[in-house]
Amino acid sequence: MKSPWHGPTAARDRLALIWSLRDKRLSLWVALVGLVAAVLITLVWLAGRYEASQVQSTLERDTADAINDIRGGLMRDVQALQALQASHSTTTAWSAEAGGLLREHRAWLRVEWRDAQMQLRHHIDSPLRAPSFSKTPRSNVVNEFMQACQRARRSNGPAYSSSFFVPQDDGLGFEVMDMCLPLVVAGETVGYAITSYSLQEMLAEHLSPAFARRNEVSFTEPDGTRLAAMGQHGRGVRLFSAQQLLDLPGVTLVLRVDGRRGAPDLFPNILTALVIAMSIALVSVLVLLVKDSRRRLKAERELAEALAFRKAMEDSLVTGLRARDLQGRITYVNPAFCQMVGFEPAELLGRNAPMPYWPPEMVGEYQQRQAIRLAGNAPPREGYESVFMRKDGTRISVLIIEAPLINVLGQQTGWMSAFLDISEQRRVEEMSRASLERLQATARLATVGEMASLLSHELNQPLAAISSYANGSLNLLLNNMPGETTQTLADLHVAIERIAQQAGRAGKIINSVHDFVRRRDQDREAVTPQALIDAIMPLVQLQAHKLRVRVVIELEDHLPMVWCDRTMVEQVLLNLARNGMQAMDTPEMTHRVLKIQARRAASNVEHQWVELAVTDQGSGISSEVAAQLFTPFFTTKPEGMGLGLSLCRTVIEQHGGHLEFEALAARGTIFRFTLPVPQSPH
Ligand code: ADP
Repeated sequence: MKSPWHGPTAARDRLALIWSLRDKRLSLWVALVGLVAAVLITLVWLAGRYEASQVQSTLERDTADAINDIRGGLMRDVQALQALQASHSTTTAWSAEAGGLLREHRAWLRVEWRDAQMQLRHHIDSPLRAPSFSKTPRSNVVNEFMQACQRARRSNGPAYSSSFFVPQDDGLGFEVMDMCLPLVVAGETVGYAITSYSLQEMLAEHLSPAFARRNEVSFTEPDGTRLAAMGQHGRGVRLFSAQQLLDLPGVTLVLRVDGRRGAPDLFPNILTALVIAMSIALVSVLVLLVKDSRRRLKAERELAEALAFRKAMEDSLVTGLRARDLQGRITYVNPAFCQMVGFEPAELLGRNAPMPYWPPEMVGEYQQRQAIRLAGNAPPREGYESVFMRKDGTRISVLIIEAPLINVLGQQTGWMSAFLDISEQRRVEEMSRASLERLQATARLATVGEMASLLSHELNQPLAAISSYANGSLNLLLNNMPGETTQTLADLHVAIERIAQQAGRAGKIINSVHDFVRRRDQDREAVTPQALIDAIMPLVQLQAHKLRVRVVIELEDHLPMVWCDRTMVEQVLLNLARNGMQAMDTPEMTHRVLKIQARRAASNVEHQWVELAVTDQGSGISSEVAAQLFTPFFTTKPEGMGLGLSLCRTVIEQHGGHLEFEALAARGTIFRFTLPVPQSPH
């Protein structure tokens, strides 16, 4: 039988499909992980870049501010100098005022007052430090301030000289820049005020200490030569640099600010930290997802394998399986069931009563049975037998075991049935029953054979009587005296009457045996125990007579009928009676009594029982004999067949009863067996 959902190929295809899905999912995962990694790296890089540009622009801004601060400071210096020149024309007053200014401005090294011909009228050095021009006389740098003053006169405003190095006594030195301010009176340049600045101190004076702590600030020439520097510190690795021109009349300086930023680095700022934290969270979620997906895949694989295993199991079962929903529709059949009834799954699935495999003559009964089942009545646990019809019309006997189909929520969703094809079993049973019957018949014939000798013995008497009456009658006829005719006729009448009597008796004896041998009623029927005993009595009596046994019958009052195969049970009784009588057939036994009893036996709710017992006072049964008593062909008698007891037990067990024996305390044995009482009166 082939169908899309049967067979190992389908299971293999399903597995292959699952594997290919798995591969596809794996590559999707790899792509996702790659993408997330790329996004994260880009984000971190961009955050770093952004942070760097932020730092850079802050630095640029700070540098521009610093330039403004310096420029403003220089402007204020010019104003202070102008005020000095304007208010003081005497050298003493000038000196006092200039000294005050020098004390206020630490960047000022010296203030000079020169006349229009550049001759020094007066000068004063900063009281805050040793005189700067002690080692190098001012005449050495005359060029620088001369040029500045010329420019100042031309522009009629302050002008600056280019910077120059002034060595000091301690072997060091610093860069100095002069500022020249022309003194103009009525449009005439009457002199110059010259201030010498230490570039280094200029930085210190005009820039805030905090700014200098954060950055390294320096003045350089446009070509990069460093002139003065402040706030040097070497910590940190990332260097940000900003430059701004300090464009002064006569000179251009470059203010360079180098900002070192330490530990930029993994967590340079909150944004980067945030991005990294989010990345870590994302990666963790990804890892968890991968783990979860792996677990799911494993569960899926196990489920697929379990499913394939279950399918293979169902497909290879020889037991037919069928599931029905609560409305009685078929929802599932396995291949074994389809094979059993000869229909394709498609012809069965979704079908409701009457099913195509119900024999037409049974539809009514089966429909009733299904209605009872769907009403919720649980079927017998041990199952029940039924007959189905194959597609070709042949009948099969099946054993059906049904159980409610319960889903995971514990609700009943239908019925599950298992089917066993018991046709073959039934056939074998029928055969064994037939052979048992044949065996019974043989045993009965054997009994009859035995009876024949008894018969000959029993028939001897009537036959001898008949013979003698016949001879006597013949003599009467031959020796008939004239005149005695009336007497002769009367005698003949008597003789012939006796002959008829004896012939009748012989006929009865023969008939009793004939009846026993001939009767073959297969069916079970309700019989009184009395009738069973009566039926075997003529035969029992035959043997009892010969063996000089007294047969006693004891029947309880108001015994119910028993439900049995009459012929078979009579045979059992006869066998037991015969065995009992034979057991008493020993010369020393003088008091030979065989008791046949019937009484009610202990009963349970389902069945009532009648017990029949045959008691002898014979030799008893030794333990060796007892061990083999029911073995076929076991006998201790020279002419015995050894079939009696084994057949007896089979017959009684077929009736649902049981056969047992017990040794009697005094002497002899009792054999008992039970027979069921019919459940309803027949
Ligand atoms: P058979 O009568 O042909 O020997 P059975 O199966 O009826 O076969 O009996 C088997 C044997 O059991 C007998 O040979 C006998 O030895 C023993 N047996 C049966 N019934 C009795 C009895 N009532 N008392 C003593 N022995 C018995």
